[in-house]
Amino acid sequence: MEDNCIFCKIIKKEIPSAIVYEDDKVIAFKDINPVAPIHILVVPKKHIKSIAELKSEDEALIGKIFTVINKVAEEQGVKEKGFRVIANCGEDGGQEVPHLHFHLLAGRKLGEKII
Ligand code: 5GP
Ligand code: ZN
Repeated sequence: MEDNCIFCKIIKKEIPSAIVYEDDKVIAFKDINPVAPIHILVVPKKHIKSIAELKSEDEALIGKIFTVINKVAEEQGVKEKGFRVIANCGEDGGQEVPHLHFHLLAGRKLGEKII
């Protein structure tokens, strides 16, 4: 946990959020500024800055995050129609919050592909 990290504060419930999933290692909550009808952030409770900071000991955690992404997509009723998962990393990747997170976007045709 990092004292001045906004996502650590959400994890500690010091800042309110609309939580849709939580277990001992992972939390998922609605993005405050959604760009799609479903826009959920799936976040490890461990403070890891970004993908670039991952260590081999985090491999199981990342696997778990994708299990949670599938679970949330199913609960939100978008698993069949589809969704997009985005993880911005670092400055050129456009990452604004330096606590690893995966955007789960769904609920509309996501047209603005860059790849
Ligand atoms: P990034 O640009 O780092 O990939 O994404 C950060 C995301 O966190 C943005 O989509 C932004 O809207 C979201 N966000 C930033 N602050 C808060 C907050 O306090 N609560 C919630 N729920 N989302 C936040
Ligand atoms: Zn943090």
